[in-house]
Amino acid sequence: MLRSVPSPAEEQRPKRSFPELVAAIYEDPRVGHETRELLLAVAYAVDLAKREDGVSPLKVARRKLGVEHGRQARYDRLVADDAPRYKPPREAADWHPSAAPACEGPRLRPYRPRAYKPRTQPTPPDVSVLRDEAIPRRLPAPILHVPVGYTPPRDWRTEDGVCGAPSHHRVLEKDPRTGWITAHWFCKRHKDHADRVAEQVREQNEQAPEPVPNTGGLLPCYFKADWEKVYRHYLPRWQPPKYGICADDWPAVDEMMARPSRHSRLRVIVGTGLEDA
Ligand SMILES: [Zn+2]
Repeated sequence: MLRSVPSPAEEQRPKRSFPELVAAIYEDPRVGHETRELLLAVAYAVDLAKREDGVSPLKVARRKLGVEHGRQARYDRLVADDAPRYKPPREAADWHPSAAPACEGPRLRPYRPRAYKPRTQPTPPDVSVLRDEAIPRRLPAPILHVPVGYTPPRDWRTEDGVCGAPSHHRVLEKDPRTGWITAHWFCKRHKDHADRVAEQVREQNEQAPEPVPNTGGLLPCYFKADWEKVYRHYLPRWQPPKYGICADDWPAVDEMMARPSRHSRLRVIVGTGLEDA
């Protein structure tokens, strides 16, 4: 029988009412809009099942969420999406070189900024020069709409010493504390450099722990059921993480990252300075 899970502090108190459960789901910053829809459907179905005997809440939730793409139950995809797992960053994927981040190898030729040359061409006589004080000189700052947690790509033109050429080689580094992946990208000219970096992180990667999950695992935070069986049904190749299937039980990655690592982090390779000689 499916029922909502009381948090440890609530074990002694009466169970969460339906409105309290709905409020908790809305207030949970980990819950995205599609998962919220799933959690609310299950909460509604659990509430319904209290009044109607013999009704399976998950079957009701599945029916209530309807179908998508003509015939597939929306519920099936949303449950599979909630399977707890580690999702590596986009840059760690096997990208086509044109979509990969710029090479982060050291700049091969020193960058020399060119002096600013003022425009010497005189303004043609038929162009009227605007001297209207009412025209604002400065445009307002542009507003950028980006997803939460977005960090702008490295701008190699402003970063001294970075190559910035289109990338071809990818080296993955695993964090020795969290198992999380960082991707390093290098261009064709930095193939040797990429090989050196790969060799440097090899041992660290081999010893890295199973990555701490960073997505899913929210259904078990709110409802009690054999979720392992449910996830496996909708995502057959899924394996439960060793950290548990409930997102509430996972170690806080921020705290893990704050601790100094036992292994050396990727050192910056400065080379010999003779590459161009
Ligand atoms: Zn490069």
